[in-house]
Amino acid sequence: MAHSAALILAGGSGSRLGSDTPKQYLQFNGISMLRRTVDVFANHPAIETIKIVIRAEDRDLLDEAMRDKDIAPPIIGGTTRQESVINGLEVMAVDAPEYVLIHDAARPFANVATIDRVLAALKTSPAALPGIPVTDTLKRCVGDPLMVSDTVDRLGLWHAQTPQGFRFADILSAHRACKGLKMTDDSAIAEHVGLPIALVQGNSENFKITTAEDLRWAQRMTLNTSGDIRVGNGFDVHALGRGNHIVLCGVKIPHSRGLEGHSDADVAMHAVTDALLGAVAKGDIGSHFPPSEPEWQGRPSSIFLEHAVILITELGGSIGNIDLTIICEAPRIGPHRAEMVSSLANILKISPDRVSVKATTTEMLGFTGRGEGIAAQASALVRLR
Ligand code: MG
Repeated sequence: MAHSAALILAGGSGSRLGSDTPKQYLQFNGISMLRRTVDVFANHPAIETIKIVIRAEDRDLLDEAMRDKDIAPPIIGGTTRQESVINGLEVMAVDAPEYVLIHDAARPFANVATIDRVLAALKTSPAALPGIPVTDTLKRCVGDPLMVSDTVDRLGLWHAQTPQGFRFADILSAHRACKGLKMTDDSAIAEHVGLPIALVQGNSENFKITTAEDLRWAQRMTLNTSGDIRVGNGFDVHALGRGNHIVLCGVKIPHSRGLEGHSDADVAMHAVTDALLGAVAKGDIGSHFPPSEPEWQGRPSSIFLEHAVILITELGGSIGNIDLTIICEAPRIGPHRAEMVSSLANILKISPDRVSVKATTTEMLGFTGRGEGIAAQASALVRLR
């Protein structure tokens, strides 16, 4: 079988979505757009090599998105999409594939069938473009306010998608010949040098995520397809003893007493960790980090929570939400709640609106009421793919 490679373009700054993070690194339902895109190609049996073009300053974001995935070192893009493509092609030329599929990271919903059709067309054509026919009636509008001037004949018009497929040697020399010209996609480059381009059926879900509304739509699409929902709960208690501060959710709170026990005794983070481990039926903190081992004494509990997050990622899962209740008479949790939420959200790599931190007293009753200890309970929802 011919060697087929994918070149994924993730070099944009994507500022139209109103986020500081480029859109391809934004997550929906716990998985980044880029990761979803890469997985489409990684899961296709005919694609042997995947190269990703990024901005130099996004290296950390890429590593984060691909943390459990073995990928080739990224290629640094140029200032335009066209420059990024040629940078990618030149690097790939060292070990040139027969076919290359060039794809935008902002289209995470390309599917196996579309890739199949593009690859099949390359057997008889040097270039292939997936598209969907224009079905709406098209109007040309002019003026201010806009007025309809005429109806445009849509016969023969198609929306161009990616991945666009090419015989590698042909598209490399076409890009070299078109350096400096401004083209909006790779098939335009192929057209410019006169390469025949076969049109194949794309898939209608394969839209390009550009606006905040697109992102919400993508979120809805993935919610509908992620079926394996797990819930877990965690409960923990630590005794209050001597000390001048306690740590809850990684936040150090000055207090007349301290919490005793395992690690830094962060009872709240322990409950969250156990809820996550429970959701994926992977034991509890004690089975991963035995309290009998002195190396955990005094260590930050973020180590345990990070471990649970990695475990879930390795299972192909994503965290839906966390709901935590801290049970104590003192200290007051309210003033620290926002900091606790952001501390947990950072470790869990989910947005703060998916993390709830609540507190209650027990009306002076029981061991928490007498101030002998602090208890915490948490629920977690995890989605497995
Ligand atoms: Mg504990």
